[in-house]
Amino acid sequence: MGVSENVTTITKALKAACKDAGRKGDEVALMAVSKLQPDDRIEEALACGIRLFGENRVQDAQTRWEERRKAYPDLRLHLIGSLQTNKVKEAVALFDCIESVDRESLVKELAKEMKAQGRHLPCLVQVNTGEEEQKGGVSPHGLKALLELCRAEGLNITGLMCIPPHDLHPGLHFALLRKLATQYGLATLSMGMSADLREAILAGSTQVRVGSGLFGERSTG
Ligand SMILES: *Cc1c(COP(=O)(O)O)cnc(C)c1O
Repeated sequence: MGVSENVTTITKALKAACKDAGRKGDEVALMAVSKLQPDDRIEEALACGIRLFGENRVQDAQTRWEERRKAYPDLRLHLIGSLQTNKVKEAVALFDCIESVDRESLVKELAKEMKAQGRHLPCLVQVNTGEEEQKGGVSPHGLKALLELCRAEGLNITGLMCIPPHDLHPGLHFALLRKLATQYGLATLSMGMSADLREAILAGSTQVRVGSGLFGERSTG
């Protein structure tokens, strides 16, 4: 399947899930996760009109997007992978939204760098809903303190993001993320990937992040 067929299929699935959830089709943004994808597939997605892309590594995103995005003024690029504090400068310069805010040191560095660059990006806090050791994200009970710090530092947090554990039913994690977002008055819920976007939309997702479902399998490099 080519990318354009996949875009049609995923868009249909997204609209159908919205309909079943009693939501409008335009309430859920479709992000194309372009990490590790070859140039020709990215060009195909752009030709289909996709303008929201996600990347999980700063350096790869620079290589793939720094030049290319000049041709697409309406392009929006989100960082969805963990961010090291020594890459914050590059990240703030390149991305339009950081979805992986998850710890105090990162909050402080982001706030400092955004001031320095005069780029006040919206950010999401990543929540480690499954409390998995190897995964990024703040634990659900650490969220309150982190959000308070973000407010004190002037970081604009507009929502929450999660990546549920592989082996468990994702619905519980989506429901937890939604509950937390409601509790703290945050509007954006970045949840749902290729395999579970329907479930995420039924649980209230406002943005799904789809990689392999749009582009096909990615190289492992
Ligand atoms: C890779 C990735 C995705 C996309 O995963 P697919 O299963 O290929 O749709 C979504 N979110 C994050 C954070 C990712 O790293």
